[in-house]
Amino acid sequence: MTDNANLYAQFQKHFPKDLSAPLLLCADGRQVTYVEAVTASARIANTLLEQGAKPGDRITVQVDKSTENLFLYLACLRSGLVYHPLNTAYTASELSYFLSNAEPSIVVCGTDAVERVEAALAANDTNDHKVKVLLTLNADGSGSLMARAEHASVEAEIAQSKGSDMAALLYSSGTTGRPKGIMLSHDNLRHNAQTLVDLWGFSAADRLLHALPIYHVHGLFVALGCVLMSGASMVWHSSFNAEAAVAAMPGCTAMMGVPTFYTRLLANPNFDAECCSTMRLFISGSAPLLTETFDTFKARTGHTILERYGMTETGMNTSNPLKGERRAGTVGPPLPCVSVRVVDELGETLAAGETGNLQVQGPNVFPGYWRMPEKTAEDFTDDGFFNTGDKAMVDELGYVSIVGRAKDLIICGGLNVYPKEVEQVVDDMQGVKESAVIGVAHADFGEAVCAVIIADGTPPAKEEVIAHCKTLLANFKVPKRVEVIETLPRNAMGKVQKNLLREQFATR
Ligand code: AMP
Repeated sequence: MTDNANLYAQFQKHFPKDLSAPLLLCADGRQVTYVEAVTASARIANTLLEQGAKPGDRITVQVDKSTENLFLYLACLRSGLVYHPLNTAYTASELSYFLSNAEPSIVVCGTDAVERVEAALAANDTNDHKVKVLLTLNADGSGSLMARAEHASVEAEIAQSKGSDMAALLYSSGTTGRPKGIMLSHDNLRHNAQTLVDLWGFSAADRLLHALPIYHVHGLFVALGCVLMSGASMVWHSSFNAEAAVAAMPGCTAMMGVPTFYTRLLANPNFDAECCSTMRLFISGSAPLLTETFDTFKARTGHTILERYGMTETGMNTSNPLKGERRAGTVGPPLPCVSVRVVDELGETLAAGETGNLQVQGPNVFPGYWRMPEKTAEDFTDDGFFNTGDKAMVDELGYVSIVGRAKDLIICGGLNVYPKEVEQVVDDMQGVKESAVIGVAHADFGEAVCAVIIADGTPPAKEEVIAHCKTLLANFKVPKRVEVIETLPRNAMGKVQKNLLREQFATR
């Protein structure tokens, strides 16, 4: 029989020989072994199949992070069902869109969300598609899913999957237009996980501090992929809390986080080099890591944060090296097997040092958007590169710097302004903790640069910001407006929601 490309079967090859080894160490002191995860996922797999789910069916999961949530993910993989996770923050009307688009056969939600899900399902009642079953799973593991699974068999065959079969369906965050379903294949996920294990040196000796959500690529595929593809273990926190992270760190060897995790750790007075004494690797991604955070972290702990770059559509694309120079403000060179290029608006490849649109190609890149062939064709080039929608620059040594999202680009009087370049200049000023630079409508220039500042003590006056920028930036990049606000709006992954800032300042 040929090798089974099913991601669970691929993980299983790397499980520890002794399955009584720990997989999870929970915040309440509970330990979950590999054998428990294997058994629980088999029971859940049988439960889903008994409820009528067939390989290829989507299983929509809108639940709090828990050990059972992880087993449910593994159950979907091993039975060839497509895992479709959703942030619990989505409302009934958003949910209604996801359900009508993904057309799952089973929905799993918290008991307190049943009414919301039923309302969403009722809104889709005119559709031909009908969700077969609604099951519940709460943060403490209670609910109908586990109650049924308790009686299910612990024997479950792993479905025979092709590498191109869909393993998971995740939706884009959809800051413009409707969220798009991103299909990820067993091969996409296996390839990326294997590459990251090799690149970052994961082994069974590792213990990862896992405090990320598991409805997003970072916590679900990058973090879980590295652990399950190396037989390692995890300290399992349902969400990030700096105090709890500091207490849990001794004994851990690695952490993956969004930049906010790192700034919150630094704000904690108990976080120091001693608490990191067993740590070998801190990884950051999903949003840009400020150079200031990178430097302060190094000074406080002696550790150099490794920054990497990826997205739901592609998994990880680039990473600073495990051994070798990790450069602040860059996301490192492309991963082995990943090709990256920076092109202009006509698709011509630009030289090193020039800024343009970042395109990527590799076995990590998704096959396309769910039931949107036109959109898929639009975002891929004729020679098979995916247009990431990020503006970037590659330096002479091949290190990539992300300059911002293409849609955040400001065009002032016909000239391109990359927000990050201005943000770096403003961030360096006394009295500025951080900034976000956006474009606002301008009668003369079309768009004008607006710097939104978070103060560190007394913020600089508008005139000072402008004068400082004038000494370092071409005139068209200098902010015409400066606003001071309390905090930058961020989503759960720490990304600054510039669309909200643009809305907030559009009318003033
Ligand atoms: P998501 O699909 O939610 O993971 O979002 C992907 C987007 O996050 C990318 O297209 C980038 O714009 C951004 N991103 C991810 N990692 C980084 C990073 N290290 N630095 C800057 N932006 C990043």
